[in-house]
Amino acid sequence: MDLQLIADEIVSALEPRLGEGKVADYIPELARVDPKQFGIAITTVDGQTYKAGHADTAFSIQSISKVFMLTLALGKAGESIWKRVGREPSGSSFNSIVQLEHEHGIPRNPFINAGAIVVTDMVLAGHAPREAIGEYLRFMRYLADDETLSIDEKVAQSEQRTGYRNFALANFMRGFGNLQHPVEHTLGVYFHQCALALSCVQLSHAGLFLANRGTNPLSGFSVVSPKRARRINALMLMCGHYDGSGDFAYHVGLPGKSGVGGGILAVAPGKASIAVWSPGLNKVGNSALGSVALEMLATRTGWSVFGT
Ligand code: GLN
Repeated sequence: MDLQLIADEIVSALEPRLGEGKVADYIPELARVDPKQFGIAITTVDGQTYKAGHADTAFSIQSISKVFMLTLALGKAGESIWKRVGREPSGSSFNSIVQLEHEHGIPRNPFINAGAIVVTDMVLAGHAPREAIGEYLRFMRYLADDETLSIDEKVAQSEQRTGYRNFALANFMRGFGNLQHPVEHTLGVYFHQCALALSCVQLSHAGLFLANRGTNPLSGFSVVSPKRARRINALMLMCGHYDGSGDFAYHVGLPGKSGVGGGILAVAPGKASIAVWSPGLNKVGNSALGSVALEMLATRTGWSVFGT
């Protein structure tokens, strides 16, 4: 299978469609990104990276960070985290508050904003916010085996100023006793984790441990056990695209996590980690062309976890 050819063909097929979807504008700094961009990077478990389009342009990973913070939280607190957050798909939008009241401040899963904020609160335990941000950045550099990764402070500040819904979610959960730190501290870390800037190539490296039984084959670093990698993949499949998760499974059939910066990390277990990026989002806040690209990739490679 010629993965470079597949990546190149996807880029040519999408060329006439560049600019489709709507760039996230509720975070002012993200509204400034040129929508006519698309990149793809495929890193296989034998250590080869294939890339095409804007694969070396850094973008804001936003909610894709939730996968990495979940990995950190599981490392710190193990399975006890599931007392404070569920593992079920929500069927609601990423920033929805409606289920939280019925479910007494316990979010449905770690990938909707409410759940991710609780996970961040767990990672923050015992640290000052600045230290937790530092720990996250070190972890990401370790995962990607790349010391150049950095957080875009402008994006973090932009969301800090305008993240009203996240403040509402966090305050609501604090009212239920499911947040242990001051809301400004937990959200300060959350906005910074979301503002990490990665290229498709870097993101495909950072996610590679999930495709390779918990170990990054590029660096040899063992990140999590095979069982934990499998479980994180399961959560990504069920919950990684919010109320678009069923549709993503139907069309792509791979564990995946999207972000409103337009990136998607997809995992083909035992095969590869794939990162795509295009800033225009569909109605449920997932990259419009990124989803199309991954469907093309899954079709051509036969990598869907549901069969060829
Ligand atoms: N930082 C964004 C928010 O909290 C992340 C959302 C996303 O990427 N879906 O709104």
